[in-house]
Amino acid sequence: MNTKIADSLQSALETIHQAAQSVNRQATEIKLLAVSKTKPAVMVEEAWQAGQRAFGENYVQEGLQKIADTRHLEDIEWHLIGPLQSNKCKPVAEHFDWVQSVDRAKIAQRLNDNRPENLPPLNVCLQVNISAESSKSGLSESEVLSLADSIVQTMPRLQLRGLMAIPSNTDDVQKLCDEFQQMQQLFSQLQLSYDKVDTLSMGMSGDVALAIAKGSTMVRIGTAIFGARSPKL
Ligand SMILES: *Cc1c(COP(=O)(O)O)cnc(C)c1O
Repeated sequence: MNTKIADSLQSALETIHQAAQSVNRQATEIKLLAVSKTKPAVMVEEAWQAGQRAFGENYVQEGLQKIADTRHLEDIEWHLIGPLQSNKCKPVAEHFDWVQSVDRAKIAQRLNDNRPENLPPLNVCLQVNISAESSKSGLSESEVLSLADSIVQTMPRLQLRGLMAIPSNTDDVQKLCDEFQQMQQLFSQLQLSYDKVDTLSMGMSGDVALAIAKGSTMVRIGTAIFGARSPKL
């Protein structure tokens, strides 16, 4: 058996553990999402064998194929973390367990309307445009509060779980710190209103420790587990 993925997973978990410990948090409060984009289903299966259950995909078609190819793996959980167009909402609502990249009301509504009755409500996070770069998708802070409200009030086939953010692509630690801090505040505000909100998805390979210091409950790691990505499929 190839133990390489098992080893990388172990060190990702160790990184989380140490980052949590250094800010007096419990590592069990922080979930690891293994980002498997561009990687084949056999690698997902290998990670599953090593105990990993939650996987993230960026591209809808690729994700749907991998979900089909890993149907036999018990308790596997699939998260969409990439951009979603409204014409793809139906298959996503039918096959994914989470969508972390909800960035407008129309997408939320379509996911709600297409979530099959025999499945539990679809878990969703609202994607926040924390870097406020116009090139990035995501909601502003005020849009987050109003969309959260309409999801909870009018979309029973969705379960609002929290927020997701991709910070600025920068080495400026202070800037990253400010962005994560803003996310933490918005998340706390949301938690005051909705008791099912428990997920703050932020932190990627390079900024896991900082994100955990700022309250992240889910870190999304790809390359550090599966190796460098092949060119986009
Ligand atoms: C690709 C991706 C990740 C993982 O990035 P790595 O650099 O491979 O760890 C995390 N979050 C999102 C939204 C991504 O697209």
